[in-house]
Amino acid sequence: MTEPGEMDDARKRYEFKKTLEKLEAQEGDGTELITLYIPPDKQIYDVTNQLKDEYGQCANIKSKQTRTNVQSAISSILSRLKYYKHPPAKGMAVFCGTVKLYGDRTDLQCTVIEPPEPLNLYMYRCSSKFELEPLRQMLEEKYVYGLLVLDRREAYWGFLRGNRIEPIGGSTSTVPGKMRKGGQSAARFGRLREIAINEFYTKVGERSSAIFLAEKNFFERFKGLLIGGPSPTKEEFEAGNYLHHEVQKKVIGLFDVAYTNEDGLPELVDAAKDALSGMEVVKEKSFMERFLKELVKDNNGLAAYGEESIRKNLELGAVDTLLLSANLRKSRLKIKCQSCDYTEERTVSMPVGKTVRDIELGTCPKCTAPLVLDEEIDIIDELAKLADLSSAKVELISDDFEEGSILFSAFGGIAAILRYRTGY
Ligand code: ZN
Repeated sequence: MTEPGEMDDARKRYEFKKTLEKLEAQEGDGTELITLYIPPDKQIYDVTNQLKDEYGQCANIKSKQTRTNVQSAISSILSRLKYYKHPPAKGMAVFCGTVKLYGDRTDLQCTVIEPPEPLNLYMYRCSSKFELEPLRQMLEEKYVYGLLVLDRREAYWGFLRGNRIEPIGGSTSTVPGKMRKGGQSAARFGRLREIAINEFYTKVGERSSAIFLAEKNFFERFKGLLIGGPSPTKEEFEAGNYLHHEVQKKVIGLFDVAYTNEDGLPELVDAAKDALSGMEVVKEKSFMERFLKELVKDNNGLAAYGEESIRKNLELGAVDTLLLSANLRKSRLKIKCQSCDYTEERTVSMPVGKTVRDIELGTCPKCTAPLVLDEEIDIIDELAKLADLSSAKVELISDDFEEGSILFSAFGGIAAILRYRTGY
C-alpha cells in the first residue's frame, strides 16, 4: 500500500528533477544568466542591495546586448523579491536570464525554486549557464546501503543507492583449495590454509571499512551493510570482527547468495528483500513483478499497457494500480479551435528543451481555422488525476532497475495492474 505522503514525495522529487533538467538545458548568448542562492537566514534587503549594486556594475559590460539582458534579469529578480519579507524556510534559488529557445528566438525566463532541503549557501553568479550543483546534490539519495558478497576465494563491494546498485570492485584471495598437494602433512596444510583465510578476511575487512566509511556523511546516510555469500564463510567473516567497529555496527544481516562477483550484488539485494521491505526499490520492484507475472497469463491477465488502453481502463474504473515511468517526458494538450466549438486532446512528447510553442497545432478539421492551445498538463499529473477519480493507486517507477527500465522501453512508460479484465 502506498501512503499518500509517500506518493507526494515521489511526485515532488520527479517535479524537482524535471525542473533541474530544464534549467540544465538552458543557455544564454553571453554571460547573462543569473543564478542566485539565498539561504533561509539571509536578509532580503542584503540581497536586494547587492543586486542593485550589480545593476550599477553592468555599465562596465562591453556588449550592449549582454548589458541589457543582465539588467533586465536583475530587474526581474528584484521585482520578484518584493514579495518576500524573509526567505522561505529552506531558502530559495532564483534562475533568471535571457535564454536561447528553439530556432533563433530568445526569452527572459525566471524560475524560483524552494528547495526540498535547506540551502546553506549564498551565491550570486552570472554565467552563460545556470549553476545547479547545489540543488543537484539534493537529488542524491538520502540513504545508502553497503553491499558485500564474499567467499574464501573472492569478494565484491557495491552500494545500493535508491533503486540503483553501484558496483565498486572486487578482490580475490590466494587461499589454497581444499585439496592438498602430495607430501604435505594434513596438519601443516590446514594451518597454512587457516592463515591464508585469515589474511584474506583481514584484507576484505580493511577494504570494506575504507570503502564504506568514505561514503559522504557516513553517520547520517549509511543505513546499513548487507553481507552475502555461502555459509559458513559470511558468518565466519562477520563473527571475526574484521570490520571497523562503526561499519560492524551497521550490519543488517547475512544472506545466502551463490555469486561472489559483481553478479552477486543484485542477488544480495533480492535475498535481503524482507530486511529492505520499506525501501522504494523493493516496493517498485514488487509492483513491476506483479505486472510482468500477469502479462504472461492468457490475454495478458490483469496487466494492461499503452496510453490508449490505460485511458480506457481508467475511464471504466478498472485500474487497481497505475504504473508510470518517472522517465516520461510528455504533455497532454487541450486544444481548441479559434473560431468554432471544436476541441481535442493530444499527447505530445516533451523532451528537455522543447516547449509547447515549438509544436505545430495545425488547423481545425471542421472549419479550417487555426487551432490554439487551451491547456498544457504534464501527462503524469493528468493520468494521476484520472486515477484519483476511481481511487486507483499510482506508482511512479524509476528506471534504474531492470524491470523499471523495461516499463519505459517496452511498454511506453504507461501500464497498469487491473481490478478486472475489460478487453482493452
Ligand atoms: Zn473550427
